[in-house]
Amino acid sequence: MENVDELEIKKFEELASRWWDPNSEFKPLHEINPLRMNYISRQINLAGKSVLDIGCGGGILAESMAHHCAKVTAIDLADASLSVARLHQLESKLNIDYRKSSAEEMALAEPEQFDVVTCLEMLEHVPEPSSVAAACFNLVKPGGLVFFSTINRNPKSYLFAIVAAEYLLSLIPRGTHDYARFIRPSELARWCRESGLDLRGQIGMGYNPLTKRYFLEENVDVNYIAFFEKPAN
Ligand code: SAH
Repeated sequence: MENVDELEIKKFEELASRWWDPNSEFKPLHEINPLRMNYISRQINLAGKSVLDIGCGGGILAESMAHHCAKVTAIDLADASLSVARLHQLESKLNIDYRKSSAEEMALAEPEQFDVVTCLEMLEHVPEPSSVAAACFNLVKPGGLVFFSTINRNPKSYLFAIVAAEYLLSLIPRGTHDYARFIRPSELARWCRESGLDLRGQIGMGYNPLTKRYFLEENVDVNYIAFFEKPAN
């Protein structure tokens, strides 16, 4: 059985034409992108590295990593998003290999082919995130890094990521996130550890509604990035 929620894919397909509109539903992703790109490039110099971006959407992160001279392969299951990503690539003239695939299929086709694997804001949209973690272990080369970002699960994250972001501030469409699918850092770390990945670091992403700015912070109560290393052989 495929580890995919078709309703989630449909939600993204419906919004796909607006992936590159910085004032659309994807505004928060455009705004956090420089922060997460900065965090990733502080951990590893992407130049010349082979990178796989899982759940790439319209290619916001994939393009940034290509700008950092990474050789990027990017996968998603939403056809409309992949079409938009390919169209945008014609304009940006970046070399990115977009493919329709799940993480699990890709792990069978291209085991240990990537220096870096990124899977940002995607785990909270799949039925079995632990299976994606296991696929990432198989995809990354020994000694390589895997980056995840998702949303923590606690009363504060419910208040900030759902009540405030979807209802009070309308930063993203209502129904974007399902609280039950939020993931505690300890759960993510456990799935990764069970797959063979070692936790290397994590950082939170905060939002100030007055300045309307996102920022990196130590606190991982709501949005966070965590990265892992596959031990070298
Ligand atoms: N990673 C991008 C987009 C995040 S939105 C970014 O952070 O900018 C979540 C993306 O995950 C959507 O594009 C959606 O189509 C994709 N997705 C959801 N379930 C998936 C699955 N099972 N396999 C691959 N992609 C999936």
